[in-house]
Amino acid sequence: MPIDPTENLFKAIDERRDELVDLTCALIRFPTVNPPGEAYRPCAEFIGDRLRARGFTVDYVHAVGTPGDNERYPRINVIARRSGRVPGPCVHFNSHIDVVQSGGGWTLDPFAAVVKDGRVYGRGACDMKGGLAASIIAVEALIESAATLPGTLEISGTVDEESGGYGGVHYLAERGWFSPPRVDHVIIPEPLNVDRVCIGHRGVWWAEIETHGRMAHGSMPFLGDCAVRHMHAVIDRFERELYPKLAARRTDMPVVPSGARHSTLNINSIHGGQGEVPGYPAPVVPDSCRMVIDRRLLIEESIDAAKGEVRELLERLVEDRAGFRYSIRDIFEVRPTMADRDGPVARSTAAAIRRVIGRTPEFICSPGTYDQKHIDRVGKLRDCIAYGPGILDLAHQPDEYVVIEDMVNSAKVMALAARSLLYGVASFSV
Ligand SMILES: [Zn+2]
Repeated sequence: MPIDPTENLFKAIDERRDELVDLTCALIRFPTVNPPGEAYRPCAEFIGDRLRARGFTVDYVHAVGTPGDNERYPRINVIARRSGRVPGPCVHFNSHIDVVQSGGGWTLDPFAAVVKDGRVYGRGACDMKGGLAASIIAVEALIESAATLPGTLEISGTVDEESGGYGGVHYLAERGWFSPPRVDHVIIPEPLNVDRVCIGHRGVWWAEIETHGRMAHGSMPFLGDCAVRHMHAVIDRFERELYPKLAARRTDMPVVPSGARHSTLNINSIHGGQGEVPGYPAPVVPDSCRMVIDRRLLIEESIDAAKGEVRELLERLVEDRAGFRYSIRDIFEVRPTMADRDGPVARSTAAAIRRVIGRTPEFICSPGTYDQKHIDRVGKLRDCIAYGPGILDLAHQPDEYVVIEDMVNSAKVMALAARSLLYGVASFSV
């Protein structure tokens, strides 16, 4: 009886189940906490050494001069590439190796990588060392099970995703590492659940609004002008005018959770007056109040329009409110991005989910952002999605974990999707 190549591939991944768990544990044990960007080099070298031993060409790219880069915390990225004997497209798996700080509330050591009840626990288990390990095992199994694999496979471990990706994917994309014809299709194994294909994300605009006042003695506030009260007027306008407008806007992007299918604005922080520590605050009328806003944008919105809306509201306060003065400073912005759900990478991943998991996959968009923005906007590579094991809600939480069964299944999906992309989606059915 002829051997079904797909069953063969699945078998090769099933046989690597323990190896997949061990690899995930080994990755978690590098405490790649960002900030400050701990243990990037040893983690990148661990990935590079492994893949070089399996026939990959390995490059390390040090993102010199990017935020946080210094001698103590160098921003080191690793890219491994392996070309088959027959030319063909390049399929790239990109994972970030940085994790957020462990924080409180853990019942286990966050960097011990504990295996328990069919799960691997640890900081980054879900976001996203489980996904990175699954993509490595997927690619290794694919190479071994297909003697004459066409095209090129790439795996990268990049840094600083949790802080904007400037020392990672952004730096590499600016230098052509993520552009056609070098790379054709990208899968980012972020934890978005094993049966969902994430085709994009909303945009972001962060800004700091400052209201200005005049200092005076707290016992005679009428002699000063309170910046905190001016900020209250800003928030009051937000409540009455801006929030209802944002809530009324609805996107065609399939964002999950569905509450994020509207424009949103969070007040990330607010600071006014003097600090209370140590002892009592001084009785002074605050002359400054600062607020950081976090506006999330839909694909139908432009950043300029979102900025204009807030400025217009502030300008009307200048006219309506005695003594109102403000300044506004942009901190960070990302345009929304969305790949074509009928594009090759989304279609082949969806077909692979159907085959492996037996469910109709859901196409979703992320409420936040991840490195797809740099691949799309800077690398000009549109055929990029996120797909990986792990439950999105567990990311950044205490006792973060990834389910081993999900990692195995997602490795099968990634291997199958990559194989159909390498052979050309139309000519190879999964
Ligand atoms: Zn992530």
